[in-house]
Amino acid sequence: MIQALRGFRDILPDETDIWQKIEKLAKEIFENFGFREIRLPILEKTEVFARGIGDTTDIVEKEMFSFQDSKGRSQTMRPEATASIARAYIQHKMYSRSPEQKLYTIGPMFRKERPQKGRYRQFYQINAEVLGIDSPALDAQLIVMLQELFTKLGIKNLNTIINSLGCKKCRKEYNLVLSSFLKDLDSLCGDCTRRKEKNPLRILDCKNELCRENLGNAPLFENYLCDDCKTHFSNLKEFLDIEKINYKIDSRLVRGLDYYTRTAFEIQTDELGAQSAVAGGGRYNGLVENLGGPETPGIGFAIGFDRLVEIISSKIKSENKSSPDIFFISFGKKAKTKAFKICNEMSRAGIKTELEFSEKSMKALMKKANRINAKFCAIIGENELEKNIISLKDMDQGKQMEVNEKDLILYMKQNLKATGESYSV
Ligand code: ATP
Ligand code: MG
Repeated sequence: MIQALRGFRDILPDETDIWQKIEKLAKEIFENFGFREIRLPILEKTEVFARGIGDTTDIVEKEMFSFQDSKGRSQTMRPEATASIARAYIQHKMYSRSPEQKLYTIGPMFRKERPQKGRYRQFYQINAEVLGIDSPALDAQLIVMLQELFTKLGIKNLNTIINSLGCKKCRKEYNLVLSSFLKDLDSLCGDCTRRKEKNPLRILDCKNELCRENLGNAPLFENYLCDDCKTHFSNLKEFLDIEKINYKIDSRLVRGLDYYTRTAFEIQTDELGAQSAVAGGGRYNGLVENLGGPETPGIGFAIGFDRLVEIISSKIKSENKSSPDIFFISFGKKAKTKAFKICNEMSRAGIKTELEFSEKSMKALMKKANRINAKFCAIIGENELEKNIISLKDMDQGKQMEVNEKDLILYMKQNLKATGESYSV
């Protein structure tokens, strides 16, 4: 038996209902907040991520699926969407039409990680990114928009964590202070010992117990923010207060990507064990410039779609979308042809149909009708052919009636409407 690769999985029809529902809701909410969809390629030149995300990040150092094309150029299956969005913004000079762009995109990402619950090698993200706006009100608005989605999905008990990572200027100063604090620490994990030189900030959110203990007394970034960054952060908090968003400040939250500046945030749950982050985001005022574009502020977030599904699939009763409104049963060649035609016509009219192709007995097909949970059965045999009627059985009430063939669609629409289905007659 050939199986899918480790960390790559199929999402089967019973699960896709919930994926579609979330996707539809996210699009609706994001569009109400002024966002438009962008669709991006899955394969990019490696430099998009190496330059965009940062050479010393976990993603670029060890998580990317990269390979060479026939000319030896390195290409990478995208591990995230933000760098690609910035690449597209620059490539299409989207700024010349309007420097302010609010974009969202939904799709698969690829990271070479150790697969476990809530962590896959192909996983899905819902991304929203805004380019060209530097206001802290926007930072708050993105968090408001995220909360709106989670609330509409009926998720409570989420923690919103925020922090400020400063700008180029104050981050440099803080890095020096942090480095001199780290210099005297020798019991750090292997990763952090390397990061000491290359990327000290990342040590702050190491999950290793020993590192966490050792960093208990590390200097706090909030004490080193420059005046502009301090103001931006306090404005963000004010706007969150206006919307009564509950949040916690965690000066350890640095997030895995180098491009963040100022605002960083994460939405966490305690329902997924170690994989606690459902969404994460932040401001990246240097990214577009880093990739060769004009100086452009940016901010965005990514929702872990797989983790979101895991949290809510236990809570939401997935309505059985697959059960047909009407199941066509027919006996004999002529009746089968008629059923074929009427059934197609009904599908085109917006009614969910199921057509029986086999020659099984009435008894066997009634069993099937129950199994697939059909609302009605349309039966066509000799008798119905002769009289140009359809025998229609209401499976809930067990009633059977005869309906004129030409009235069938209208009859079904009215009936489905009466039972609360939304069809327009
Ligand atoms: P984590 O700390 O869990 O590795 P991250 O900081 O690497 O997360 P981001 O790059 O910020 O994650 O991606 C945003 C969201 O995407 C995460 O909050 C998480 O919900 C989801 N995510 C990240 N990596 C994976 C993965 N390998 N499998 C499933 N979901 C993931
Ligand atoms: Mg990660």
